[in-house]
Amino acid sequence: MSYADTSGTRPAVTIVSARCSHTGRLFGIRFERMGETWVGTWAFAIKEARASREGYDRNEIRGQFAFDENYPGCPYCEEQSLVQCSCGKAACYDGKAKKVKCPWCRTQGVIEGSVDRLSGGRDR
Ligand SMILES: [Zn+2]
Ligand SMILES: [Zn+2]
Repeated sequence: MSYADTSGTRPAVTIVSARCSHTGRLFGIRFERMGETWVGTWAFAIKEARASREGYDRNEIRGQFAFDENYPGCPYCEEQSLVQCSCGKAACYDGKAKKVKCPWCRTQGVIEGSVDRLSGGRDR
């Protein structure tokens, strides 16, 4: 038997759920922590039932966000960026539009500021 001491290490990889702002479909984004920055490295389509079973909708990460140069973008429309609505949920974003309609709560919001926290959380 061997024992790995993991005390004091924060998780370095997490999956956050988001929706495509064009199709409303769900996808997961894999973020890896590099220093104080969470870097998005991969995105993949997921089914609704799987997202809640795996707990993606309960993950939350804080800090600065960036995307790896190899990040593939939204699996449905290939948008390379993300927005977060006031409802706390994330959607794909082209990085240019001034207004985006949230595919989770249907609120149309103006893009302002930058994201400092991401979660797929339920009620916020
Ligand atoms: Zn999309
Ligand atoms: Zn919303």
